[in-house]
Amino acid sequence: MVQQPARNDNATSDQRLRDIGDLGGQVAVISGSTSGIGLAIARAVAQRGGNVVLNGLGDADQIERTRAGLEAETGARVLYHPADMTHGDQVADMVAFAKAQLGRVDILVNNAGIQHVEAVEAFPTDKWEQIIAINLSSAFYATRAAIPIMKAQGRGRIVNIASAHGLVASPFKSAYVAAKHGVIGFTKTVALELAQDNITCNAVCPGFVHTPIVDKQIDDQARTRNMSKEDVLKNVILGSQPTKQFVTTDQLVGMFLYLVSDLGASANGASFSIDGGWTAQ
Ligand code: NAD
Repeated sequence: MVQQPARNDNATSDQRLRDIGDLGGQVAVISGSTSGIGLAIARAVAQRGGNVVLNGLGDADQIERTRAGLEAETGARVLYHPADMTHGDQVADMVAFAKAQLGRVDILVNNAGIQHVEAVEAFPTDKWEQIIAINLSSAFYATRAAIPIMKAQGRGRIVNIASAHGLVASPFKSAYVAAKHGVIGFTKTVALELAQDNITCNAVCPGFVHTPIVDKQIDDQARTRNMSKEDVLKNVILGSQPTKQFVTTDQLVGMFLYLVSDLGASANGASFSIDGGWTAQ
């Protein structure tokens, strides 16, 4: 039997401030959560009383170790759904699976993403289409499927992991920058459509976070720019971040916990930069 969230509509401001981070009984569906930022958010939900549907690609045994480990570590129910986020029917099935197995869908995190670094004139068409599908269309597929469930529950929180590249561009990332700008436009539209349904939709725009997607980029940037990996790290990756520090996943989790809390109710259709000052320049 799935525990119902203990929400109190008459909670005082003090209670709401105290309750930030209490996700007791809530269910989160997080795309691309077998690694990196998505996995950090999944762990945070499970540690705070929520149940989670993990998703992502990768080695089946490794994913099962991650899932079982998270469950053992937190006592939460942690399930895995193998939807390929490029396929709308599989994504809809993942959201329906969460509702069927865990009883509700309170939080949707559209996080799955990939990168490819190449000059526009050499950018492979299949890579362009894949990036638009995984980084942008998947958010539409999952949001469309989650909205009727959230409306029936009378509350919902949608958090889209965009990027600093949703707000500004860098060379050689045309598909990624286009997709992430699209995510921010999509976020605004969903927020407006659901503003009176107690469902919010926001975008988080991280700067560089040291996850596998960045490790791969260091190699690709070194090749594309004909630079050493050390130079790419210092002058390209951290070059754009005034703090000269990677953003950490716990810093992103902090923003996530605010957005999904009751105090986050008026944050809607917004893009929250957590980028060490990158987009202030
Ligand atoms: P990551 O490579 O660690 O994680 C990406 C996840 O997406 C993985 O779980 C992977 O399996 C999953 N995925 C990829 N293709 C998929 C598909 N077709 N179907 C289902 N899942 C798929 O990278 P990350 O850094 O954790 O990235 C998470 C999100 O954060 C991405 O949207 C990324 O663009 C964004 N982001 C990352 C950074 C950074 O510096 N790491 C900065 C800004 C934004």
